[in-house]
Amino acid sequence: MSDDDAGETAKGQRGRKLSGDLRREQLDSGAFLFEIRLRLDENGDEQEYDLTRAAERLPPHQLDPAAPMPAQSSKELRAEELREYLGMERKGYRVTKDLGCLHPHSRFTAYGKGSIIRGHQRMTAYLWHKRSHMEHKAKATRNAEGRPVDLQVSHLCHRPWCVNPLHLVVEEQFMNSLRNGCGVINGRKGPCCAGVKCLRTYSDGLEEDVEYCSSEAEVRLAIDPLMNEAARGPFSVSLLPKSLYAERDLAALKRKQRNDAKRLKI
Ligand SMILES: [Zn+2]
Ligand SMILES: [Zn+2]
Repeated sequence: MSDDDAGETAKGQRGRKLSGDLRREQLDSGAFLFEIRLRLDENGDEQEYDLTRAAERLPPHQLDPAAPMPAQSSKELRAEELREYLGMERKGYRVTKDLGCLHPHSRFTAYGKGSIIRGHQRMTAYLWHKRSHMEHKAKATRNAEGRPVDLQVSHLCHRPWCVNPLHLVVEEQFMNSLRNGCGVINGRKGPCCAGVKCLRTYSDGLEEDVEYCSSEAEVRLAIDPLMNEAARGPFSVSLLPKSLYAERDLAALKRKQRNDAKRLKI
């Protein structure tokens, strides 16, 4: 896939912000480059992987088998989302010291100003783990107790920007809501309210001061649980050299400068 493919190029700004500009911004802010992929089985198909199980090795929540399937085929959805996902991943992630949360460039978070990907968490979960469950995409429905059971992606780390697959779980809306305020009862510390346990006490994850890893050794320590899960799950995690895209970013910059110069002459 060339670097000029959609998802690798940030559009919408005056002139055009190159993919490499975003990468430089993100790497300068302390990010590292990763490649997280599902492994292929002998038929060349990606293997299914159950994230709910990975999170705490509990059985997945019961889903309504009668929920309608989406109109869009999973192949179409995948091609488009894969492009967006790769564009995000290739800018790198900052890694928090406490839990190994992976923080994409703000352009790709659901909350960043001018962000181009909404619900990147959903996409991440879809790509890595819970494809079949995400395909339900049911209209909001309620269970027998009247609770909303539309599927959502919850963050066990309470950081809505995080894409660490071990911190994401696909579950019913009411379970997601239960996590808001989790671990706090009347302002005091209390137990986690959900079946698959949260990783820390609730916070909205947007304004807090987060300490990020600054060396590769710190990153490896922080993502150790992810590496362990990768060793037994059907996906792989690689930490890539920061200079991996330097050459092609430089080539893209030169190409742009040449084109700009040509336009000026006309
Ligand atoms: Zn996280
Ligand atoms: Zn909780």
